[in-house]
Amino acid sequence: MTASEGSAPVILVVEDEAPIRRLLTVLLESRGYRVVGASTGSEARIRAAETPPALVVLDLGLPDDDGITVLRELRTWLSTYVLVLSARTLEQEKVLALDEGANDYLTKPFGSAELLARVRVGLRSSQEARGLPSVVEFSGLRLDIAAREVSVDGRPVQLTPLEFRLLVELATHAGKALTHRHLLVHVWGVGSVGRNHYVRVCMANLRAKLGDTASHPRWIYTLPGVGYRMVDRDDRSAERDEHR
Ligand code: CA
Repeated sequence: MTASEGSAPVILVVEDEAPIRRLLTVLLESRGYRVVGASTGSEARIRAAETPPALVVLDLGLPDDDGITVLRELRTWLSTYVLVLSARTLEQEKVLALDEGANDYLTKPFGSAELLARVRVGLRSSQEARGLPSVVEFSGLRLDIAAREVSVDGRPVQLTPLEFRLLVELATHAGKALTHRHLLVHVWGVGSVGRNHYVRVCMANLRAKLGDTASHPRWIYTLPGVGYRMVDRDDRSAERDEHR
């Protein structure tokens, strides 16, 4: 793992069929998630302990253990959102999985869009359970952190994973001055401290994509020699009104 992957949500994909596991990995990674794969129940336990996942996609039909057994055991120490996959269409299996602590259920074959939608719902609910906001809104800027979607004036904006994490760090600390060091530690990882040019380059790209400028900022203000502060224009006008 490189430092730049530090804050992408980790999804543990437990699936014994390699082509499906690869498909899920490519699909989830294309959305900026970090995927940890496991092909057996025992591997799933090891991977979950090594890298606590933000969400687990669990196939019920595994070669060593029944997925229900894996789920039951994971649930004794892991509270993560579990999305169960199964080729079985029996109502009873779904009920059993849900009774054993699965949060959601998807029957194979499933479409990519449906899987991604279920993953977004799962991550959003985990995020809310941890007390973190899943959606942050500024005037004209909407940031759906769980879904990793950003829009400006209603138009979707495509950000790289780093640009997205930089924006999340600023948006979840709105109103606060964030130093270059803070941003390097929380976005790039502690090994990048001192490389202020990482922040400057990424910030320039982020601003260009958002249509924000350093000289006439809409949301992101440069604090010369210090760092940056993200402010909602609406809040600023409220501040000015108070001082009138
Ligand atoms: Ca299977």
